[in-house]
Amino acid sequence: MTYFVGAHVSASGGVDLAPQRAKDIGANAFALFTKNQRQWKAKPLEPKVIANFKKECFKLGFKGNQILPHDSYLINLGHPEEEGLTKSREAFLDEMQRCEQLGIELLNFHPGSHLNKINISDCLARIGESINIALDQTKNVVAVIENTAGQGTNLGFEFEQLAEIIHHVEDKSRVGVCIDTCHAFVAGYDLRTFEACEKTFTAFDEIVGNQYLRAMHLNDAKTDFESRVDRHASLGQGTIGLGAFEYIMQHPQFEGIPLILETTNPDIWDQEIGLLRSFTQEA
Ligand SMILES: [Zn+2]
Ligand SMILES: [Zn+2]
Repeated sequence: MTYFVGAHVSASGGVDLAPQRAKDIGANAFALFTKNQRQWKAKPLEPKVIANFKKECFKLGFKGNQILPHDSYLINLGHPEEEGLTKSREAFLDEMQRCEQLGIELLNFHPGSHLNKINISDCLARIGESINIALDQTKNVVAVIENTAGQGTNLGFEFEQLAEIIHHVEDKSRVGVCIDTCHAFVAGYDLRTFEACEKTFTAFDEIVGNQYLRAMHLNDAKTDFESRVDRHASLGQGTIGLGAFEYIMQHPQFEGIPLILETTNPDIWDQEIGLLRSFTQEA
């Protein structure tokens, strides 16, 4: 097993340009948007672009489990109202199908928001049902729920909420979790010391289960512990500090899954990837 480290690279000009951008920063994993993340609709991927994306991934050594697309920010799979929910479910299915076409095995998304119109457990049940609907109409792609910072009415900021969503999903083999270190920290999961990391990740294993851990977002935080405010910082330049990332690069549950930087300065991603690799005991 190895550690798959990378960043959320640009897909501007075409998704087929993303693999080379990842390779250029020394990554062996990457994230991308397969459509404009701020729009509901996008034109279908062209067969030529799909073929070229697959060719590039093969040539550069990126397999389907080393790529972690992120869905559109507009989608709310727990939307309290029928219209918003239907629109979100349609858009999410489209995102899953794009992954399928591109040979990607994972799709990362923020679970959803109750907008103060339904209670938390109803919202979590809706999110689970939305996942079931998308899984029924696709094959192979795993729905990867990201923990959130808990801003506003966004759910998924407690491990118990992630577990509750998974509980509602029928095909447990196709649901997983992506832990974003910045989100976890500002939501109240301490990562500042080795002991704190041990406690946080043990809690994750007990409440959700390490078998569901399919990806990580590695971000330091600009904001304070428990602030519930989501602002990413470059590694070692925030309130979490480098210890958490050292911990992650030395524990086997983080091997073989995409570890993706969403830090704020793309110009130093190559250095951050090098730094992360230097933390592994095999380095
Ligand atoms: Zn993230
Ligand atoms: Zn974030």
